[in-house]
Amino acid sequence: MSMTTVSMGEALIFRVAIPVPVYSLFDYLAPDNVELDNIKPGMRLEVPFGKAKKIAFLIEISQKSELEVSKLKRVFRILDQKSLLSSKDLQLLMWAANYYHHPLGEVISTAFPVPLRQGKSIVVKTPKSFALSPLGQVTLSTDLQKSPKQKSLLEKFQSSLLNLSETELSDWNINWKSSVNLLIEKRLIEIITPKTVKVEPADSIIRSDALQCNLQQQDAIDRVCGALDRFGVFLLEGVTGSGKTEVYLQIIHAVLARGQQVLVLVPEITLTPQLEDRFRNRFAVSIALFHSKLTDNQRQAGWLSMQQGESSIMLGTRSALFTPLMNPGLIILDEEHDASFKQQEGFRFSARDTAVYRAKLLDIPVLLGSATPSLESLYNVDKQRYQLMHLPERAGKATEPMMQLMDIRNKRIHEGLSDVLVEEIHRTLAKNEQVLLFLNRRGFAPTLICHGCGWVARCKRCDANLVIHFDEQRLRCHHCAQEQKLIRQCAACDSSELTPLGLGTERVEKVVTELFKDKITVRLDRDSTQRKGTLENYLQQINDGEVDIILGTQMLAKGHHFPNVTLVAILDVDSGLFSIDFHAAEKLAQMIVQVSGRAGRAEKPGKVIMQTRQPEHLLLTTLIKDGYRSFAKTALAERQEALLPPFSYQALLRVQAADANTPQLFFQAIIAALKKLDVGRTQILGPVSAPMAKRAGYFRYQLLFQNANRQELHGLLDALIPKISKLKQTNKVRWSLDVDPVDLY
Ligand code: ADP
Ligand code: ZN
Ligand code: ZN
Repeated sequence: MSMTTVSMGEALIFRVAIPVPVYSLFDYLAPDNVELDNIKPGMRLEVPFGKAKKIAFLIEISQKSELEVSKLKRVFRILDQKSLLSSKDLQLLMWAANYYHHPLGEVISTAFPVPLRQGKSIVVKTPKSFALSPLGQVTLSTDLQKSPKQKSLLEKFQSSLLNLSETELSDWNINWKSSVNLLIEKRLIEIITPKTVKVEPADSIIRSDALQCNLQQQDAIDRVCGALDRFGVFLLEGVTGSGKTEVYLQIIHAVLARGQQVLVLVPEITLTPQLEDRFRNRFAVSIALFHSKLTDNQRQAGWLSMQQGESSIMLGTRSALFTPLMNPGLIILDEEHDASFKQQEGFRFSARDTAVYRAKLLDIPVLLGSATPSLESLYNVDKQRYQLMHLPERAGKATEPMMQLMDIRNKRIHEGLSDVLVEEIHRTLAKNEQVLLFLNRRGFAPTLICHGCGWVARCKRCDANLVIHFDEQRLRCHHCAQEQKLIRQCAACDSSELTPLGLGTERVEKVVTELFKDKITVRLDRDSTQRKGTLENYLQQINDGEVDIILGTQMLAKGHHFPNVTLVAILDVDSGLFSIDFHAAEKLAQMIVQVSGRAGRAEKPGKVIMQTRQPEHLLLTTLIKDGYRSFAKTALAERQEALLPPFSYQALLRVQAADANTPQLFFQAIIAALKKLDVGRTQILGPVSAPMAKRAGYFRYQLLFQNANRQELHGLLDALIPKISKLKQTNKVRWSLDVDPVDLY
């Protein structure tokens, strides 16, 4: 191959994307003496931008520019020697920018870990691992009697028989380094340098044996493993405890044996610390992590280790989806219905839908799993776009819990607990079994009201009440950062008769500890688990049987194993029944099934009690009598009737400003612009104020677009966006477009 060198005289244009809120690409002159053979789209560049420097991403090289070439600035330098993104990766990002109508530069930027986004050069520091040397294998640990640390380390290696990575050693004992060095000096263990992913004999990948599967599990495994070489979407529906994770593990094993990598996305890893352990216990390959509790550098290390093929599995949250893979083989999304797979700010992508598109581009399968599949996914099964696989039974010996609606109308209620429920709790505890109480509201009480004059403590910046946090003696807004000391006197009439109204987990904790004095209660919510390691500690205590009553918010609904919990009570199921968002029924049903899934996992049968004042509500009765699938069928029929998604497509234009007037002027201009466009069959609903009309000091309005024809809707958005960017009102508001919104707030 000849090297093309371009001299200063010729116009050679780099068309780049820059992470700024601008939809178009930017043209720059290529750097001097650039060797075009080495230049690939996706490379990071440093460019002058206004008075500053910015990181840009090369999209294409051109001979022409629509701008006057003499006015173009020159690229400062090229940061990458090779593009970190494959052409498929770039194609995916371009598709996503287009589909979600978000500026390409910002989209590409999100795909990179923060240090790379900021232009840091790549330093590949591969994590080391260690293994027994032949001498170490035959040395008796008792020979090291005099140095107990080295002795126990040698025993650790001898019992695991496999490589141990730095991470694993740190988990085992943070002071491992000196002992490892001493054992290396004694030639008992050796450093193993990581190798890139390659086809390996299947049994060298595995660390512990797979479980013996039941028929349905085996069928699911066989179906996906029979289609590993091509695109396909599989939906694995199975209640909690039905053995989905085991199915994932066995399919992953097959993919690893082909020398391919697997991307596993979960809603929130930090809430399910056991999951990582299960993966590490099963596989002897390097596993990368990517989630919000890691540092930027840790995330970058995981990202690069997948990009370079040193790790075979990535376990991550939503934003891990864009991790470049050297040799992709499978994408798994666990709890695919979970709303956290939709990014709610900035680049508002759905990790599920984008994962499906990515799998299609890569021609690999994608596996979606859930106890409560989203209505969209079930609809796609109906349309035969997704293949459904069902695990109807709980794995092992566990049985389904019994669900019961408890009518609490006219019943005596003590701080959220009815007498009958208190009875049930006593009975369960008497058998030495655990109880789980669910209330999806943290704090002591959601409202502080004056008994004298009716004054309510409100947030000054939001349309919301301040929540009482009694333990910390604070009043806090859950929608912005506003907080203040808990007051003792009414701000309006000075009365000291301030009354907490409603229930939060703190309040229930108080009453539970009073009612069950000799029992141990733990509260799991965002407030009680702030400090690192607290959640893990609590989970450990629960599993060790040191806890009798577990009380918490939706944090409890996620994948935990509480084998000794036999009674689950949902204290206030009604609060989910009356929402103006059409997604609410689906979310409530999912939450009920997920929380119920905590009960009776082992051999003890479980019971779920839902306190309600709506015992005849169709959603609740359908769910309990006929199960989630029936509920989903009814709910889908309702959506079809109302032509709501998935029977139509939506996009939500949100606007906010510091005063109430500007958004209205902005919308008037938008409506005028829309009049000049061909809206086709797109319904335009609004503008209306957002359900929370003021938040964090901003007045909020929205306009909803809906169309049963996706192309038509997107065509309209394509035409509208350049117009929005040009409106003179645009600079005075903050606006965003949410394609396929999952939350209409
Ligand atoms: P899910 O992911 O659906 O909640 P898991 O895969 O975590 O289910 O399985 C729940 C429990 O049942 C785990 O403790 C797991 O080890 C066990 N399990 C899964 N499959 C089997 C099986 N085929 N035989 C026995 N136990 C199993
Ligand atoms: Zn008052
Ligand atoms: Zn607020």
